[in-house]
Amino acid sequence: MVTVPAIVLNNGVEIPQLGFGVWQVPADETAKVVGLAIEAGYRSIDTAAAYQNEAGVGEAIRACGLPREQLFVTTKLWNSDQGYDSTLRAFDTSLAKLGLDYLDLYLIHWPLPQRDKYVDTWRAFEKLHADGRIRAIGVSNFQIAHLERLSGETSVVPAVNQIELHPRLPQAELRTFHAEHGIATEAWSPLAQGALLADPAVTGLASKYGKTPAQIVLRWHLQLGNIVIPKSVTRTRIRENIDVFDFELADDDLMVLGELDKGTRTGPDPETFNLA
Ligand code: NDP
Repeated sequence: MVTVPAIVLNNGVEIPQLGFGVWQVPADETAKVVGLAIEAGYRSIDTAAAYQNEAGVGEAIRACGLPREQLFVTTKLWNSDQGYDSTLRAFDTSLAKLGLDYLDLYLIHWPLPQRDKYVDTWRAFEKLHADGRIRAIGVSNFQIAHLERLSGETSVVPAVNQIELHPRLPQAELRTFHAEHGIATEAWSPLAQGALLADPAVTGLASKYGKTPAQIVLRWHLQLGNIVIPKSVTRTRIRENIDVFDFELADDDLMVLGELDKGTRTGPDPETFNLA
């Protein structure tokens, strides 16, 4: 069984450095797919209210037979629920769907700067954290200006910022800001949704190391210190993606991947994304 190293968050809570993402996993397949991931050694699961599969994640957790404290569960507050009271209600709904009595990590899914509710939303996160209902609180898709505003107006520094990050969008500036402020960087779409895997720079390194393209990209993340949450519904890929702790990329090869930076996103721009 693979053992995944932990990253210690700014409040002392430990999160596995590699977890399992479930965006676009159909609700009726989620329990089975998450079960496969847990069997393969994943102990951290990343879902969201918007993915509409929290119930399946909870079902897999109950079925796997592991003690609850051996699993790390993240979910996210959807945009339409931002605001103080609505956040408290949405949290209860997510927890009920998951069938859990506490959460390991809760994230504000998007900042929605035009709506200007993320500070109030964060205050509700701080209350849920202070009440012992969440072990760590964080944000997702926040830019430096949003993090600075939180730090000026609230008291708890986010433990995590989950952002789009892969060799085509390495997010150097945001990663440096996180490191200076004790915020862990979590990479979503770590494989750029698969788009990176046929790139000759990646396939070349795969041949050199005798690994798969996905393993090369995941290794790049791990060596940068990122938390990663690759998604797959395919049993062999689920196993392949966690089998990345027996080799290391040389510094020169990390730089080869660094040269793939195009500043291109697979997802929306957090400054303008405003979906309800
Ligand atoms: P990923 O970068 O994880 O890529 C997933 C895609 O790559 C799927 O099509 C999958 O196919 C394929 N794939 C996975 N492993 C391999 C492999 N070893 N070889 C070849 N292809 C592979 O993209 P996601 O967008 O899913 O991001 C991961 C997670 O990040 C999400 O599931 C979600 O939890 C989180 N996320 C968060 C967001 C946010 O706003 N906070 C936004 C987007 C994602 P298949 O499944 O068919 O095997």
